[in-house]
Amino acid sequence: MSKNYKDMWKNLGLKLIPHDALLEVLGKGYEDIYLTQNNRPESMAYFNFVMSEIHGLRIKELLDEKTAGRKVIGSFCVFVPEEIVLAADATLIGLCTGADFATEEVDKLLQRNTCSLIKSAFGFKVGKVCPYIESANMIVGENTCDGKKKSYEILKNLVPNLYVMDLPQMKSDEGKALLKAEYLRFKEAVEKLTGISIDATRLKKGIDIVNNKRKAIHRLSDLRKADPSPISGLDALLANQVFFYDNPVRFTESVNKICDELKKRIEKKEGVFPKGTPRILLSGCPMAVPNWKLPWIIETSGAVIVGEESCVGERGARNLTDDSGNTVDELMEAIINRYFKVDCAIFTPNPDRLDHIVEMVEKYQANGVVHYGLQFCQPYLMESMPVEKALEEKNIPTLRIDTDYSMEDVGQLKTRVEAFVELLK
Ligand code: SF4
Ligand code: SF4
Repeated sequence: MSKNYKDMWKNLGLKLIPHDALLEVLGKGYEDIYLTQNNRPESMAYFNFVMSEIHGLRIKELLDEKTAGRKVIGSFCVFVPEEIVLAADATLIGLCTGADFATEEVDKLLQRNTCSLIKSAFGFKVGKVCPYIESANMIVGENTCDGKKKSYEILKNLVPNLYVMDLPQMKSDEGKALLKAEYLRFKEAVEKLTGISIDATRLKKGIDIVNNKRKAIHRLSDLRKADPSPISGLDALLANQVFFYDNPVRFTESVNKICDELKKRIEKKEGVFPKGTPRILLSGCPMAVPNWKLPWIIETSGAVIVGEESCVGERGARNLTDDSGNTVDELMEAIINRYFKVDCAIFTPNPDRLDHIVEMVEKYQANGVVHYGLQFCQPYLMESMPVEKALEEKNIPTLRIDTDYSMEDVGQLKTRVEAFVELLK
């Protein structure tokens, strides 16, 4: 970290000793997993910097924005529309975390059979180690899976500024009407928070910024079609994770810079692993920083990840918002249409997700799929069996992994992944 931020963290109410311990573990994990990779693109240096400053400079920027009158809104789900937040000159940041923390205290608040993602968000809050949660003027919870829905009833006792957004469970006309009503209500809440009335010009600008961010990620994904792959799955995942934290305009520029470098690598036939390395599509639950366990196991077992069918990946970033409308109503309609296509497993039925997995296998020429389900995540675990069956019927080898954030099962997972990679070879 470039500076000493202790006063800033103290003023945010963080507990400095556990926070120091967290940063040490995070730094060590990053060093062991990311910095030991061979043949990394040079422009990934930007992401090394972002990670080294994730609780430092980025938080300082957010606090400076707040001093200048901007609001910060935190979210746990890709259904919270960043376009609306940006249109009101506010900043959206992701609050999902990928590490266990304060587990004993969390066990007093949540059932043991709650997924790691939810437990982790609680752990970072009760452990007082997350400067993002403490910086947010508003935190948006959404009624997606039952775990999240019910946990927000408890979280609201810990965060007074929690706003809960209802979400549909079916892709029906009624479902879309609910999404529309909720996005209009959210727009009003953001306007009230910021004191800014969102007009068409503002909304168009918000759409433009988020679309550009998505386009950069689409470009990155497209370059991963090459064999040898010019970037590791771990590095591409990192870019997808930083998508939720960074300043959106700077992020877009940085990802485009990586893409320029990758393009040259492809022309020179340079890759991170040799040509012909088995290619894997990762599909399932989202992976928030620093949840790198499974991708690390896969890429140290002789395979390369060429795509993520995940909300921290293509499920979250794949569709652009139509910016051709000229009125607030038209642009809001475009936002609703864009988000209604997100094929999260909370929807029933959810055939689009399976179609998308197959489409991604073909597009990125994957040899197999690793389905990642977090333990106790009912929506994705319930979907994993039919997904595996349907993929196997199409002769797409599939490995189902159910795991959590602990490192206890690394040995066992590595054995299973290595056997799967052998099969692909
Ligand atoms: S998996 Fe579903 S609930 Fe989780 S971030 Fe994605 S859309 Fe939201
Ligand atoms: S991983 Fe599954 S159970 Fe956990 S929050 Fe996401 S959808 Fe809900």
